[in-house]
Amino acid sequence: MELGAGNQSDLRDANTGFIFQLIRRLSPISRTDIVERSRLAPSTVSVITGNLQEKRLIRECGHAMSNGGRRPVLLEVDPDGGHFVVADLSGAQMRVGVINLGMQVIKQWFIPLSRKGGEESYRQVLSALQSGRQWCGEHNLSLLGLGVASPGLIRDDGMVIEADNLGWYLLPLRRRLQEALSVEDNILVENDTNAAAYGEFEFLLDRVEEGSGMYVSVDTGIGAGLVFNGELFSGARGLAGEIGHVRVRVDPDAPVCGCGRQGCLEAVAAGPAMVRDYHASGGGAEVMDLETLLARADSLDDEVALQVVVQAGAEVGRVIGGQVNILNLERVILGGLAASSQTFFDSVRSALLAVALPHFQTGLEFHRSTLGGQGGLIGVASLSLAQLFHPSASVDR
Ligand SMILES: [Zn+2]
Repeated sequence: MELGAGNQSDLRDANTGFIFQLIRRLSPISRTDIVERSRLAPSTVSVITGNLQEKRLIRECGHAMSNGGRRPVLLEVDPDGGHFVVADLSGAQMRVGVINLGMQVIKQWFIPLSRKGGEESYRQVLSALQSGRQWCGEHNLSLLGLGVASPGLIRDDGMVIEADNLGWYLLPLRRRLQEALSVEDNILVENDTNAAAYGEFEFLLDRVEEGSGMYVSVDTGIGAGLVFNGELFSGARGLAGEIGHVRVRVDPDAPVCGCGRQGCLEAVAAGPAMVRDYHASGGGAEVMDLETLLARADSLDDEVALQVVVQAGAEVGRVIGGQVNILNLERVILGGLAASSQTFFDSVRSALLAVALPHFQTGLEFHRSTLGGQGGLIGVASLSLAQLFHPSASVDR
């Protein structure tokens, strides 16, 4: 089954993208409303909506109330009009999903990642995307894009500079997948946390105005994704958001980080650091993972667990508070396994509020992730959808 790349060039004009987004956010919406909001000529709106309908990206969904004349036809996104296949490598298992145009995960499966890493992990990703594409073919679903959410430093051309957990160093992931899957375009490779951040903010867009915010994930590592006015902020080379490598301890005994430096937030407050500190403070050897440690802390029966989790939360909260002061964020979303713990969440919040200046706290929203483990899948699919309409999107991205 081929991607519809050949048919997509005519979607890449700014007006088409703008109208599609209007329909996504405000549906059900009539053509007259689209004309009013877009200030485009009625004939242009008519041609573009006709084109989107022909491609099954939008559909008619009843009529609006009439104020005299004919009742206007209402439009909405057709959730079955297109699909994305995404592999998310952020956990110990690869999560593979098929996501529809309504940004719902309609099929999901898990594949344990090879411990060998390197080429073996690459082959697993390729095979997962092939299976997803085949599944779409068998169910007669039109495929709009393929994507990968990967941990590590990912350049904006889809080159994985380094992903330690996967043993990937300078792996041109996007280019190799393009060659292996024989598609020229519509393969997107994004950092897992950036993808989750975009997914979270996209999900909220139906409910809130476009805002600026940060998504912070605390799990086996610590990372952040920044969204400004509905767009992912990825920095000069696509690497922005490495909040885990903000240095929080400068003493000579500060723990060494995976990046080789000392005293990084990740080395002090991520899952493995919490478990290490628990054992170092006399906690029992039966606690081997973050999940158990968080449960112990939340039960309030284990003083050492409570202390360690509160301490880690405070470290994370202070760093986020600093970011709030720099960026005047409107929203901070906490995700990853640690966010599920009330103890951890409360500790992050109080440290954040102790550091963020009073004026920066006005209107600041702080809450947990809405999409949970599916954030990466939905984020990559949403980014891929946005790229479909982006005038500058090209094979050379
Ligand atoms: Zn580091």
